[in-house]
Amino acid sequence: MTDEKRVKCLIVGAGPVGALAALYAAKRGWDVEVYELRGDLRNASTTPLNFTRSINLALSERGINALRYSGSDSLLDAVVADTIPMYGRMIHSQDSRGALTETAQPYDVHGQFQRAIDRANLNKTFLSELEKLPNVKVLFHHKLTGADFRLHKAWFERRLPSDGDKRPGEIEVDFDVIFGCDGAHSSVRYHMMKYARMNYEQTYIDTLWCEFNIPAVSSTHTISTTPSARDGFATSPNHLHIWPGRDSMFIAIPSTDSSFTCTLFAPAATFAKLEQRPHDIEPFFQAHFPGAADLIGPGSITEQFTKAPHLPLISIKCSPHHYTSTGIILGDAAHAMVPFYGQGMNAGLEDVRVLFQHLDRHASTPSGRAAALDAYNAERVADAHAINDLAYGNYWEMHAGVQSTPYLVRKKLEEF
Ligand code: FAD
Repeated sequence: MTDEKRVKCLIVGAGPVGALAALYAAKRGWDVEVYELRGDLRNASTTPLNFTRSINLALSERGINALRYSGSDSLLDAVVADTIPMYGRMIHSQDSRGALTETAQPYDVHGQFQRAIDRANLNKTFLSELEKLPNVKVLFHHKLTGADFRLHKAWFERRLPSDGDKRPGEIEVDFDVIFGCDGAHSSVRYHMMKYARMNYEQTYIDTLWCEFNIPAVSSTHTISTTPSARDGFATSPNHLHIWPGRDSMFIAIPSTDSSFTCTLFAPAATFAKLEQRPHDIEPFFQAHFPGAADLIGPGSITEQFTKAPHLPLISIKCSPHHYTSTGIILGDAAHAMVPFYGQGMNAGLEDVRVLFQHLDRHASTPSGRAAALDAYNAERVADAHAINDLAYGNYWEMHAGVQSTPYLVRKKLEEF
């Protein structure tokens, strides 16, 4: 390999982190091939892994900054145009007389805010941007099955929808470097562990999550709206809504179609009880998340709980994140975290910006790239571990700390 050779980069996973990494690599003139297990999200029939439909995420300055340096003039504007500003939290509760209350808690005294974004729309924008670049190929329905980081070879199983019941074909691909952006259950990480002396820790917390939807208010719809509702939204569109429970929590994030994507977080035992006794679901909501059931629509709350998958939450720490000049893991593949800090994707996008900052400081040769990946690893692993811990710490903040004084007083009283 000489200095002149264009770097051939395989990116495994076309989620938000893989797609952004592909943009950054392509803008540096690399030959980029993106391999994605699933189909093209721009086809209506494809849903993101683990979700029945797309979910809304909070895009923060950390993520926006990574888009800002992508080298694309139009990307940031295209992404931001499809977001809704959330200026703070809205805490939903009930006063001592049983009246519903809403308390707004701004994120920042200077008015800084987060943006609600549909994960699938973000991904579609990235893919459309990639399509404009001649040095990027995106291959859907390709699953990484193996990688040799010394021989510079990777293997993919190709199962196109048109293949029907045929056995999937396998292809072998050469590379200079692989970016593993294939999520929490990363196959790149699994294969890299056979080469790098990687320490690895994974933890499942005793909380499951499940998606709900608060529909837009329409003339045909009769949900009762809250005082802060407007523009077809059942409640304020400019807040991240939290119904704090004791051990559980319900949150709602606005969507551009005036609905809200919501998530119930609760202990696995609570999920098990509600699965066994579906008629308890609505009373459970009435008792723990006052007002939420009315917004969801009491008629559909049980159906939504029953139909949506009940999913675990995993937290992953590992080190190192790379192997010599040939492999690196980014995003959830390197540091999946519980979602309570709203920073998983944002941190993954930031990985890409920080990685290319290091790559730009070194020669585009194997030894230059090895030095860049070493430097990235030295900076980034500690940051990844820190944000992972903060995310876990914020679970308490969101389901209890937001009402801290009364909560702590109640807890103290119970202890006596
Ligand atoms: P993923 O999004 O998991 O993408 C990985 C891609 O790799 C997928 O497309 C998958 O199909 C593909 N893939 C997997 N295996 C293979 C293989 N063997 N071969 C080829 N392709 C493969 N983050 C935030 O920043 N803000 C939030 O508000 C927020 N809220 C969240 C709420 C919930 C309930 C959850 C669960 C997560 C939340 N997150 C949030 C975290 C965020 O969803 C993830 O951090 C983000 O999706 C990670 O992006 P990624 O590209 O690293 O991985």
